[in-house]
Amino acid sequence: MVSPAVSRLESLYADVLRRNPGEDEFHQAVREVLDSIVPVVERRPEFVEACVVSRVCEPERQIIFRVPWTDDAGRVHINRGFRVEFNSALGPFKGGLRFHPSVYLGTIKFLGFEQIFKNSLTGMPIGGGKGGSDFDPKGRSDAEVMRFCQSFMTELYRHLGEYTDVPAGDIGVGGREIGYLFGQYKRITNRYESGVLTGKGLSWGGSQVRPEATGYGAAFFAQRMLETRGESLDGRRVVVSGSGNVATYAIEKVHQLGGRVVACSDSEGYVVDEAGIDLDLLKQIKEVRRGRVREYAEARGVPFVPGGSVWDVPCDVAMPSATQNELHAGDAATLVANGCRAVVEGANMPTTPEATKALQDCGVLFAPGKAANAGGVATSALEMQQNASRDSWTFEYTEQRLAEIMNQIHDRCAQTAQEYGAPGNYVVGANIAGFVKVADAMLALGLI
Ligand code: GLU
Repeated sequence: MVSPAVSRLESLYADVLRRNPGEDEFHQAVREVLDSIVPVVERRPEFVEACVVSRVCEPERQIIFRVPWTDDAGRVHINRGFRVEFNSALGPFKGGLRFHPSVYLGTIKFLGFEQIFKNSLTGMPIGGGKGGSDFDPKGRSDAEVMRFCQSFMTELYRHLGEYTDVPAGDIGVGGREIGYLFGQYKRITNRYESGVLTGKGLSWGGSQVRPEATGYGAAFFAQRMLETRGESLDGRRVVVSGSGNVATYAIEKVHQLGGRVVACSDSEGYVVDEAGIDLDLLKQIKEVRRGRVREYAEARGVPFVPGGSVWDVPCDVAMPSATQNELHAGDAATLVANGCRAVVEGANMPTTPEATKALQDCGVLFAPGKAANAGGVATSALEMQQNASRDSWTFEYTEQRLAEIMNQIHDRCAQTAQEYGAPGNYVVGANIAGFVKVADAMLALGLI
């Protein structure tokens, strides 16, 4: 017998499919949340009756715009820009910008939807949104990236504001891009409005620990989760996928906590370094030279495996930190067979639903991205706090705040899962805890 709550959610999901055709990642993200919140709507039918669930699946505003720019040879290029302002019940829209050729509306909608619940979990006053472009920064000069960012902001600025919508970085958008975007916003508006973007440089309104925060936060989460089983990262073998911002600082914190990261990757393949990834070298190659992990392997004289799956490398803890749907059911089976104890998502939705289920069924601790990688946006909110009070905090103080926030997120997910009859299920705990706070606020604010 299907309960009335379940059938209401099913018809709502059918609506989401019908109204958002072809947006597979968005469907996947919605499906997971709806599956998790069944016991909530059974207890609190007003969430369905007042259409809170259907409203939370519909962005408040979606902006799509043309981004024309010229390359260094004077050729004109046209890209598409997006900003999906998903939910502002808890605060201004907040979420990063992704520049990657694969970006389309469905990518930004899945990321924006996830961001609502992630931001809610941080306990900070921030709503959810996401943006980006199908622009490919790979191989582009600084001048080309600057012209693209200026053109992008020339349209987007009218939708932003420290009380309205506050973007930051994501894949393909780091300190360099935030600088160009902030410069153009400042120029057009004639305002030094620091709180309009986060991830800024330290000398112009940025926060200590923001670059490190997503990766550090994921490692803190992993540590806290392992502690529930009387374990820790100390002495553990860890594999991190990706080699961008999240991966780099996840590796750094895992090493500081006594673990050893033996492999990382990029879209060309993966590198195995049994002595532990040499982070100075990796940063030099990725952040300074904007190079590939193959160059790391060449410099260190360690194996580089082109193509293939980094999850073939045996580990105790896996931290998928590259991109969505990068860890499949077959990878999950390999991880389990190799004795993996925990999977901690540094990226957004990197594990497929089938892989997630396989890991959970085998008793592997599984930390979903919207909880485990929330340290980045949480520290963005700390940056906004510092901007609002025209203050700047020390590295130590900011990192301590981040660690406290991650522990609180962990504990809230664990308690919520327990309370709703799914002990140890962090997916259910994160989705319910994130959802209930937003849903309560939406009810209080009336039908808007
Ligand atoms: N893009 C990051 C995320 O996925 C950070 C967003 C932010 O700092 O606003 O959460």
